[in-house]
Amino acid sequence: MILREKESEEKYQKFLKEEYNGKCIFCDKKSLLTLKHWGLKKNDFPYDRIAKEHYLFYPLRHVDTLNELTMEEIEELEFFKNEWNRDDFYDMWIENSTNKQSQKHHLHYHLIKLYE
Ligand SMILES: [Zn+2]
Repeated sequence: MILREKESEEKYQKFLKEEYNGKCIFCDKKSLLTLKHWGLKKNDFPYDRIAKEHYLFYPLRHVDTLNELTMEEIEELEFFKNEWNRDDFYDMWIENSTNKQSQKHHLHYHLIKLYE
């Protein structure tokens, strides 16, 4: 399935080739919203063929997998996952498989609000 419009996909590929350089986009960039343990930012390269809005939700600590989270981090994750769902903040909560990820070593989820 193609998730980005042609122009967005080209921008994304250009970013991967010219700017990305293996750095961590979650540790490098400021969050739109910061909780105690988690951050939220807009995806600069949204899945704009399906998404009206596309956010990324990630732990503030640079951890690779769910197994490395503390109980407190997991509790906050569960709390906001449920709260935001109830508030209709997103339609899809996605964790991509490793081969689909450009940011492989910092756990993150895609929150997608679909077009009506
Ligand atoms: Zn990181």
